Amino acid sequence: MQEQKPTNFIRQVIDADLASGKHSSIATRFPPEPNGYLHIGHAKSIVLNFGIAADYRGSCNLRFDDTNPQKEEEEFVDAIEHDVEWLGYHWDNLYFASDYFEQLHDYAVELISKGLAYVCELSAEEMREYRGTLTEAGRNSLWRDRSVDENLDLFGRMRAGEFEDGSRILRAKIDMAAPNINMRDPVIYRIRSGLIHHQTGDAWCLYPMYDFTHPISDALEGITHSLCTLEFEDHRPLYDWVLDNITIDCHPQQIEFSRLNLQYTVMSKRKLTQLVDDGLVNGWNDPRMPTIAGLRRRGYTPASIREFCNRIGITKADNSIEMGMLESCIREDLEQSAPRRMAVLSPLKVVLSNYPEDQSEQLSAPNHPKDESMGKRLLPFERELYIDRNDFMEVAPNRKFKRLVTGGEVRLRNSYVIRCDEVIRDQQGEISELHCSYDPDTLGKNPPDRKIKGVIHWVSAKHGVKAEVRLYDRLFSHPAPDSDKEIEDWKHHLNLQSLVVVENALLEASLGEAQPGERFQFEREGYFCRDSVITDKLVMNRVVTLRDSWARIENSK
Ligand code: ATP
Ligand code: MG
Repeated sequence: MQEQKPTNFIRQVIDADLASGKHSSIATRFPPEPNGYLHIGHAKSIVLNFGIAADYRGSCNLRFDDTNPQKEEEEFVDAIEHDVEWLGYHWDNLYFASDYFEQLHDYAVELISKGLAYVCELSAEEMREYRGTLTEAGRNSLWRDRSVDENLDLFGRMRAGEFEDGSRILRAKIDMAAPNINMRDPVIYRIRSGLIHHQTGDAWCLYPMYDFTHPISDALEGITHSLCTLEFEDHRPLYDWVLDNITIDCHPQQIEFSRLNLQYTVMSKRKLTQLVDDGLVNGWNDPRMPTIAGLRRRGYTPASIREFCNRIGITKADNSIEMGMLESCIREDLEQSAPRRMAVLSPLKVVLSNYPEDQSEQLSAPNHPKDESMGKRLLPFERELYIDRNDFMEVAPNRKFKRLVTGGEVRLRNSYVIRCDEVIRDQQGEISELHCSYDPDTLGKNPPDRKIKGVIHWVSAKHGVKAEVRLYDRLFSHPAPDSDKEIEDWKHHLNLQSLVVVENALLEASLGEAQPGERFQFEREGYFCRDSVITDKLVMNRVVTLRDSWARIENSK
């Protein structure tokens, strides 16, 4: 698909920095914490950081922000690398914040030596009490004025594992009366003993905090613009303070932009983890999840996700993006790129009484109505076939109904015109098959004497392949499930119809060879993708419907 070229306020800052000579080349990074799978919000940050590096011929690192071994795992590291690559990006360097543990430790020692950090023994509760509030200054800790030597000794013993978790912390010595609470002697190191870190094993029991780690990691890598989401705006003074007070050459500029919020889903890793752990979805790659892995399995293309991120743009304004916007990006991509096929989700048998029993023919149909270069496929045609139950009614309910009715005619897509002569019922009185006749003179041309209005899709009874079709819808029925003040538990808003399984669909013969992940338009039904989790069944996932049915529902409210 033709992707849009982005412009935004961050790119304007970069343009100005290049013009003024402040920088001659640009370096960015994407710094995920490996405590879950990436979601579409992360894609916004990936497209921004890697997109800037690509457009300015700069560099972009992938850096795992792995300073909390309690929540982080190797599985997530692997999944994140895979997702970034799948989105179409290549990092210049792959780093772990834990690569810098030794250097970070030395910078902490430098701060202590300068009298700018101290070991504090307040309990977590006392810390909270001493911190003050937005309107009230904090109070100095009793341990704030320890000598440099005593602090160096204690910090060394913290590293050596002499103290219990939570008994001592290292704090920056800034200002307990600062209006910005982040500057009130923030914690920069804590003890976490007995844990095995996925990179450093049991080498450390002392772990640096994000606000200390992040600016130093950025500076060590020579990052020019450190792009992060708005909740870090209040942390910027601390980011700058750390770099201003240690011996380091580089001082990246932190710039904040608004997070992506998407309607009808939740986005925080904590909540997505709950959905997975509580079994409310089938894992991180459930096609209803807003994770990259879920979107991939659902059938989204990397180009559609990149395009979405560029369309929503980068601003400082918090807002919530309509799901329809993401859906139109994949719809537009697949409209152009997905071959057309026929699939009957609710099969109703049709017998063509005037088509000889031993006859069969191979009709040919274009793979794309507007793109000849996509070629053609063959459609076997015989006496017995299936149409969709929804395409037949004994009597038309209104004049808009252009499909098949008793005594009426309709065109079978890519094939002949048929007329319904007789409706056959089973013992329960349900319609079990239709006896029709076909007009042999209507292949590829209209009958001269009458107008055929409707066209329906069909599948050969003998050659059709059985499949399970999974119809996915939005995971939540509330546009902002986690911000509904009236109902506390956001899980109450799960959409119970978000997955409808059609067990016995019938697909045209050529779909028997569909590859995992291959995408198609099922004519008149929507866009579908062969499930990438292979079982002995042929499973097709609905990526998106042909039209935005939610827009209609919302407009009629
Ligand atoms: P979550 O709250 O979902 O766990 P996070 O911010 O803790 O997200 P990180 O792994 O720390 O997740 O994020 C890596 C990068 O992705 C950060 O720079 C972060 O700002 C960015 N990011 C995370 N969520 C979003 C979002 N919804 N929109 C834009 N950027 C995001
Ligand atoms: Mg985080």
